[in-house]
Amino acid sequence: MSKIVVGVDLGGTNIAGVLIDEKGELKGSKVWPTEAEYGPEHILRRIIELIRTLLEENGFTLNQLQGVGVGVPGLVNTREGRSIISHNLPGWKDIAVAQKIHEEINAPVFIENDVRMAAWGEKLLGAGQDKEDIVCLTLGTGIGSGIFIQGKMFKGRKESAGEIGHMTVEKDGLRCNCGNYGCLELYASGRGIARRAKEALANHTSSLILKLVNGDINQITAATVCTAAKQGDELALKVIKETALYLGIGLANVANLLNPQRIILGGGVMQAGELLLEPTREVVYSRALPLNREVEIVPAKLGEWAGAIGGAMLAKMQFIEGRSSLEWVW
Ligand SMILES: [Zn+2]
Repeated sequence: MSKIVVGVDLGGTNIAGVLIDEKGELKGSKVWPTEAEYGPEHILRRIIELIRTLLEENGFTLNQLQGVGVGVPGLVNTREGRSIISHNLPGWKDIAVAQKIHEEINAPVFIENDVRMAAWGEKLLGAGQDKEDIVCLTLGTGIGSGIFIQGKMFKGRKESAGEIGHMTVEKDGLRCNCGNYGCLELYASGRGIARRAKEALANHTSSLILKLVNGDINQITAATVCTAAKQGDELALKVIKETALYLGIGLANVANLLNPQRIILGGGVMQAGELLLEPTREVVYSRALPLNREVEIVPAKLGEWAGAIGGAMLAKMQFIEGRSSLEWVW
């Protein structure tokens, strides 16, 4: 009877799950809506139901399940298996996620912040394999990161390290939700890109961006800007190039601070691909110290599955191989 593990990635819109066997082979995957509007109890039931469905549909039983890793957005206390708060999930505050899931499935469960879980996915099965010093950034609605130093994830005293999105890149910049001014997230996140495109459009009426949203400026997202840029729209290209400048300044700081081998960029903003990556590399190579310029800057490989894969692969290491990497498990 083969042993299996499950990884789950909880998001504001979707819950994704993967099933991986003892050889590390993917045996099933599933994604369904979070239905976050129905509250925390409902979300927890959805996660448990997703785990059960994944097993059933792929011909496995609960007895074969060796463990589950769950990526949760927002602040988490991994030692207590508790989610402290997530602003993307209404009413989601101080939830004993690991314990509640464990009680229903009777297998060990651990949780981690979703961005860090995605970083684990990239490290173990994606763009960071065989590298020890890595920084994985997720450029989504906000900007988060997972940092590996000598193969180990660095989280800081209170699990608050890696907040690259709140690094100051503009001294007199806009005020951020965090209270600081000019945070990287305000300029290079999906939301930041959309906002800057709207601002740029105030003096421009001929951009393809406007056509793509039928003139409704409120519909503009980072994806709209990426689509327009790929078709050569001048204003969109300018916005992407400026994004690369902010991102490059942030990454040059990261390179100077940590001297990583590789920086991996994922998240929705990476739809822009090389259009964003190439100018970002140029900024890093022109601003970081010579030895720190050697850092490779590459796109993530696992896309939106990174978090679920990270959870499953960590569970496999911990519960099947007995390679202890986790501090606390329920
Ligand atoms: Zn901030």
